[in-house]
Amino acid sequence: MRNLPIVAIDGPAGSGKSTVAKALAKRLQFVHVDTGALYRGVAWLAIRKGVELGVEQDVVATSSGVKFEFRYIGDGNHLFLDGEDVANFIRTEEVSAAASKVSAFPGVRSLLLDLQRSFGKTGGVVLEGRDIGTVVFPNAELKFFLFASPQERALRRHQELKAKGIESDLDSVAQDLAKRDHQDSTRAIAPLKQAADAIPVDTSGKTIEAVLDQLEALVRQRMVY
Ligand code: C5P
Repeated sequence: MRNLPIVAIDGPAGSGKSTVAKALAKRLQFVHVDTGALYRGVAWLAIRKGVELGVEQDVVATSSGVKFEFRYIGDGNHLFLDGEDVANFIRTEEVSAAASKVSAFPGVRSLLLDLQRSFGKTGGVVLEGRDIGTVVFPNAELKFFLFASPQERALRRHQELKAKGIESDLDSVAQDLAKRDHQDSTRAIAPLKQAADAIPVDTSGKTIEAVLDQLEALVRQRMVY
């Protein structure tokens, strides 16, 4: 029995998941776990080693035995791989596309499954990803599925990249997102899908504060035992 709930936030790229999960965890004083960062970490290791991304056993081999940890640095939870802070390397469009590709491999998913469960099992955690409510923690106390219109998601991602000093073209950002969504929702294992008992949250045209207020209220209701 957990004293504090597990909050699962799933949804497609650009739905507002990351911003909302991070800020919600902060408001609740919960731990924030960005599971997408783990898939990005696997992809980044494979790219760095020059491994062929289509060969499952080689991709899995590059990550096997590597220590994946999160450490709070400043305002964010950074991913460390064997002690190296990779938070600033895993957000490129190259790594996004590669993460979506390698995340379809059963070997990669099973490598990360126990790890994600170990991060969340004690409760008091907000986990964000694609399959948290369906596969990683199907018994999570709270499940949210965030979505937004494709135009809005592309614009958000475009602005996010700009804020990081990365120039991008809105049309190609939209195409990359559509491709990644298609790959993520049609893969055979743990596809991006709303859990039957997840609460759908349309973030289109809403401020982050409005979405946060809604989610925080629902979590706090569940915390009154
Ligand atoms: O959330 P983010 O966009 O950083 O995730 C990068 C990629 O990692 C996704 O496009 C998806 O393919 C994969 N992923 C996943 N399962 C998760 C989280 C992310 O397959 N729980």
